[in-house]
Amino acid sequence: MKYRFMDIAACPMCKHFPLELYVIEEKHYPERAEEIEKFLNRFKPPLCEIYCYRLQTPIGRRIEEVKDDAPCAKCLETEVATGVLYCPSCGRWYPIIDEIPRMLPDDLRKKEEDLAFLRKYSSRLPEKIVLHGKPWNLGKS
Ligand SMILES: [Zn+2]
Ligand SMILES: [Zn+2]
Repeated sequence: MKYRFMDIAACPMCKHFPLELYVIEEKHYPERAEEIEKFLNRFKPPLCEIYCYRLQTPIGRRIEEVKDDAPCAKCLETEVATGVLYCPSCGRWYPIIDEIPRMLPDDLRKKEEDLAFLRKYSSRLPEKIVLHGKPWNLGKS
């Protein structure tokens, strides 16, 4: 998932925007540099339009505050390989696995897979997700 995706990612259940991003693992693709260079020549940076999440997580920095200092070429070169998208409005969390954000409504989610993901990364995620996140979590209550 490219950081750039955060500019359009809304909660599939309540439609809230923007979401919070918790990065567990990044992957870099320096071989994309040439392709990105061409892109930058055509479209003036900054590339992220509203928020840049590579500058700041879990809530992105507003582009209007950073302007040309935004490292948005890197936002194209880098993928979030593993992480979580969190909706601060309804409290739902969505895993990012193998670079793909799994933004599914509750009835299409697989509870056991979700809980296994939370167990694996519980030390890297905040309590509001691990213990209180919806639709399920590792909390007792
Ligand atoms: Zn950016
Ligand atoms: Zn939501």
